[in-house]
Amino acid sequence: MNKTPPLISVVIPVYNEEKNLDALIVRLRPVMQSMGKPYEIILIDDGSRDGSLEILKGFARDQDIRVVELTRNYGQHAAIMSGFSIVRGDIVVTLDADLQNPPEEIPRLIREMETGGYDVVGTIRKQRQDSAFRLGASRLINIVARRITGVHMTDWGCMLRAYRRTVVERMIECREHATFIPALATVFAKRVTEIEVAHEERHGGKSNYPLTKLINLQFDLVASFSDFPMKMLMYGGIFMSVLGVCFGVFLAVARLVYGVVWAAQGVFTLFAILFVFVGLQFFALGVIGEYIGRIYREVRKRPEYVVANIHEAYDGSKS
Ligand code: UDP
Ligand code: MG
Repeated sequence: MNKTPPLISVVIPVYNEEKNLDALIVRLRPVMQSMGKPYEIILIDDGSRDGSLEILKGFARDQDIRVVELTRNYGQHAAIMSGFSIVRGDIVVTLDADLQNPPEEIPRLIREMETGGYDVVGTIRKQRQDSAFRLGASRLINIVARRITGVHMTDWGCMLRAYRRTVVERMIECREHATFIPALATVFAKRVTEIEVAHEERHGGKSNYPLTKLINLQFDLVASFSDFPMKMLMYGGIFMSVLGVCFGVFLAVARLVYGVVWAAQGVFTLFAILFVFVGLQFFALGVIGEYIGRIYREVRKRPEYVVANIHEAYDGSKS
């Protein structure tokens, strides 16, 4: 039997988190050390505009921390991917930098993965510390994500998750843009489970997800994994035309039975219906446009992220 304990990599994207980084390491490091397994912490600076990068560079002098510096802000999931591209671990844990995911939960994730032989261990946030609006939006997204991926996960949004190296490697091979990592992982994982974890309020600073960014991210999840919106459009279209035909028949009959008055008075009703249809058509165009935009981005094959630098004290010649 292979006795060497598995190496654990912790991957943390950082965007304007200068207030949280010290506290993060102060809490994370003892947890990692307490597990008695080799570990590395990979922090990705996703183009922060505050002092985060300087703090991270300071961290990189330590043997257990490596820092990836991206050239600008590419988004949380792209940042995590760039971290994935240099992980050495057999088990890879992702985590938010704002301490909303308590690092103390990591050993439980690892234990679950090892004892259960899982490829992915997801998490459910109990007593989530987010606004009512975020909670409602999340609930909706979780239901949609469950349907489209066919994987029964309760909570897709929590980034405190553990992946086996094989899953991570396959994810890096997908050179696709606009990825939603928890969902992408399920494409390659055979055994997936989830456990409940605590959730805390943001340590400092404010959320990096304004409404527009949040909507984009959810569209990433839905549109990169299914043609669900397109199908809805199709069914909606069929439904609308059937309705239109029925209404036409109804109007014709009414005209024949009750006379001309009916047709004249129906004009405004028709206008109202027309407006609804025009609105829906615009919506439809928007959805189609979104897909075309994605095709365009894929075709251009621009890099999903560009690494400016990797800061580490690690001496590769020893391994
Ligand atoms: N993040 C990032 N790039 C971005 C936005 C966020 O790397 O463009 C990081 C951020 O530093 C944090 C994590 O992603 O570690 C989650 O972000 P945030 O806490 O703002 O999201 P929320 O918890 O509000 O969903
Ligand atoms: Mg957060």
